[in-house]
Amino acid sequence: MSSTRTDLAARLRDLDGRSYGNYKQITGRYRFGPVTVFIDRVQVDPFASPSKVRVRIDRAEAGFPTDITTDGADRIAVADFLLRTGTKALADLGQRAIILGRPGQEILERTNVRIDDDGFEARLLVNLPAKGRRILGRQAADILTRNVPELARTMFLHSGLDAEALRQHVQLHRDQLELRSRLGDEGLVAFVGNDAILPRRSGDSDLPMDSAAVPFRSPDSLETTFVLASGRSVTGMAIPHGVTVIVGGGYHGKSTILRALERGVYPHIAGDGREWVIAEPTASSIRAEDGRAVTGDDISPFITNLPTGTDTRFFTTTNASGSTSQAANLVEALETGARTLLIDEDTSATNFMIRDDRMRALIPAEREPITPFVSRVRPLLTERGVSTVLVAGGSSAFFEVADLVIALDAYVPADVTARARELVGAEDGAEPSVEAPDGVFAAAPARVPTAGALRPSSKTKSAKAKGLDTVQFGRSFIDLAALSQLIDGQQTGAIAEALEYLAEIFDGQTSITEALAEIDAMLDAQGIDGITGHRAHPGHLARPRAQEIAAALNRFRGLRLVD
Ligand code: ADP
Ligand code: MG
Repeated sequence: MSSTRTDLAARLRDLDGRSYGNYKQITGRYRFGPVTVFIDRVQVDPFASPSKVRVRIDRAEAGFPTDITTDGADRIAVADFLLRTGTKALADLGQRAIILGRPGQEILERTNVRIDDDGFEARLLVNLPAKGRRILGRQAADILTRNVPELARTMFLHSGLDAEALRQHVQLHRDQLELRSRLGDEGLVAFVGNDAILPRRSGDSDLPMDSAAVPFRSPDSLETTFVLASGRSVTGMAIPHGVTVIVGGGYHGKSTILRALERGVYPHIAGDGREWVIAEPTASSIRAEDGRAVTGDDISPFITNLPTGTDTRFFTTTNASGSTSQAANLVEALETGARTLLIDEDTSATNFMIRDDRMRALIPAEREPITPFVSRVRPLLTERGVSTVLVAGGSSAFFEVADLVIALDAYVPADVTARARELVGAEDGAEPSVEAPDGVFAAAPARVPTAGALRPSSKTKSAKAKGLDTVQFGRSFIDLAALSQLIDGQQTGAIAEALEYLAEIFDGQTSITEALAEIDAMLDAQGIDGITGHRAHPGHLARPRAQEIAAALNRFRGLRLVD
């Protein structure tokens, strides 16, 4: 059914003053010149979740150059640009009934704006206006027959956009992706561009710090230049594959670098300050998280002989300690294929990280269940090829095992590897001390959830995101607050959908690793739309990494594994 502008306006005028439930009569599809408005689902009352509306313009009418709207990655960048354009237009209009979504400093693949071979589509959430429980028909007509089509024209008619700004947005995105894809060939795990602004405005803002920020400057010995296909050249600090330790006095900017690296798995918008802070895509932040649930993790590389006699090759608890939770986070990251670990002393369990000589003397080895990370960081590298970037200002214990030691002094990094080696008495040019590989990380057994492991008791609408940090799954709540690389509530929404998707995959034979690969392949093929059952309007979702989907699964207290 397709009707015209006057149809919808007239219908809404007729509905004015009638009870709210009558809004559902406007479900359907309407043409406004080049714009098609789809009213997919109408809310049942003014307090229910908003109505789902899409607007669409055909490719021919939109008039975008094909060279920036064909490739999948380019489409993500263009969609991001258009989303920001639309968000600004709505703010300028002061129209708060229409929700388009609010992107942050990163460029994520989202459902909010979709570009396909046929055209451009925005997915809106609209709060249809009411007075009490009565329809405000004229206001609704304003929103749906004027504001919404106008928004589509503002976003999707290329002739009205700043074409140069759009091109630059796409090119910056391409360049960041290219640099990330080249890290591996250069033997690097991360890169921090000169002049990057790493600190944020405040603890609760993701915007760059103002003029007080000291721009990043690479030490000479680590400086590398990338010349990109676009002709752009970017110079900065290269962090090689291996063990890198960041030291320095308190408040000298150590954690700030690590936090920027965590975000470096995502592309950033121009002006963020972290456009050229690039980490390889699997880089994973590993922290202590006491109280979390753990199901069947093999944490034996770090923890054995617990006083309870618990089997740490299949470690299960509803309430992990600081050290066991950090060990679980680490082995789970390995399971999802992490090739780089990012660890900050501020969020680590000290007894997981180190043990000094006097403590070794006082407590006999067989009474200490923990083999600290300092003893495992080299085997991780040699047996699994996993690099570590670690902030450690309080202990020199990692000097012996580091390939590279960077010292921060008032936010300025220096390469102090040679001096650190001297201090531990290593021969000039000697390799970091390597314990004989003992195969601890060689073979981690696959974890296979039981069939029905993810079928929560209440069947209808079982998974739902509650803000950034929580997924409600059946009757239980999954706490995601510790995931610093989960950065947008729309990703949390997609994680909730992913859990439903996983529930269908798990059959008692498919491992967690296989299931995550299946989701990633589906997302690559169908885009983030593919993860929902809704064909038309998927709501507002953003693509999470497999790492974060796995993290949610691993924190689900109802997870059950095949023995
Ligand atoms: P550390 O981990 O070494 O104790 P932080 O990284 O927490 O230090 O940084 C301490 C403070 O310095 C924070 O308030 C942070 O915003 C600020 N800061 C970090 N880097 C810079 C910089 N490059 N320029 C200005 N301020 C910075
Ligand atoms: Mg710190």
